[in-house]
Amino acid sequence: MTVDTAAELLAWYDVHRRTLPWRAPAGGGRADPYAVWLSEIMLQQTTVAAVGPYYRAFLARWPRVEALAAERDDALMSAWAGLGYYARARNLLACARMIVRDHDGCFPQDEDALRALPGIGAYTAAAISAIAFDRRAVVVDGNVERVISRLFALQTPLPAARSGIRRLADRLTPDTRPGDFAQAMMDLGSMICTPRRPACPLCPLRAACAAGPAGDAELYPMKAKKAAKPHRHGTAFWVEAAGHVLLVMRPPKGLLGGMRTLPTGPWSEDEPALSGAPIDAGWSLAGRVRHVFTHFSLDLTLACASLPQPVDIVGGTWWPIESIDAAGLPTVFAKAARLQIGDRAPMAGG
Ligand code: SF4
Repeated sequence: MTVDTAAELLAWYDVHRRTLPWRAPAGGGRADPYAVWLSEIMLQQTTVAAVGPYYRAFLARWPRVEALAAERDDALMSAWAGLGYYARARNLLACARMIVRDHDGCFPQDEDALRALPGIGAYTAAAISAIAFDRRAVVVDGNVERVISRLFALQTPLPAARSGIRRLADRLTPDTRPGDFAQAMMDLGSMICTPRRPACPLCPLRAACAAGPAGDAELYPMKAKKAAKPHRHGTAFWVEAAGHVLLVMRPPKGLLGGMRTLPTGPWSEDEPALSGAPIDAGWSLAGRVRHVFTHFSLDLTLACASLPQPVDIVGGTWWPIESIDAAGLPTVFAKAARLQIGDRAPMAGG
């Protein structure tokens, strides 16, 4: 494949590009760096369909980076609830504040300067630099990995193939319109060179592709065998008193850090039973929910108790059950709470 083929891809993109809320309109100049950054952070590990409503809500509420930087941590975390991977939300806020404090509210254009910001790794820095500023950067996401693996019928499995894929992507990236090229590769991977049943006859790169015309596309990218995810057990505690439920704030660092949740004991390979219960009470079990995190899966059992009146508990807040949806519970706790309240209160969950 040559840069001429990159030109063919760009010609295809000019006609078939996806319309996405964070993109500049076709032929309509560059996208807003703040919008590109926000969308790229949200899209890490999350689908375009899931991100859309969150992106629109965030942009309506915080139209500029200065507004986001001035927001309270807990309000931001609540707005993020349901999108998952909550470290992204903490980094989003830290990054917004650094942009305002150290960069006069303007995102840097250079990849190295972007990588120095919280939550921006190699991929995101390249994507912002290319898409928002049209600088030549090598942007490789899962879609691009798949397209390149197929174009060159790469025999090395992922993840070992990544450095080679990056070199090939570098070779293909043109000096003109690098931002559109990056988005064209992503669109091709998302619309044509899909994981299953790619539409090779419609592909603008089929003449240059090693795998597609041979009918072998689905063999690529080759994957190394995955180790099974560990499985853990935990107990969450629903303590109810006079129409309120006890919630706690998790420590700022670590999984679900800084999020408001039900109290919970340790998450371990063995059933922790009532270890970590916030009070001595007669507990009954309401059920169990399963949730899959990036590095492990969790069975969370919900233990319930009620008190005649709220009591003081260090670090605890008594939250009105009827407005539990406004508490911004992470998905696994929203699912657990649903076991207890059923349809008693509306819940955004997510
Ligand atoms: S020809 Fe098929 S396999 Fe090759 S890049 Fe195009 S869609 Fe992917």
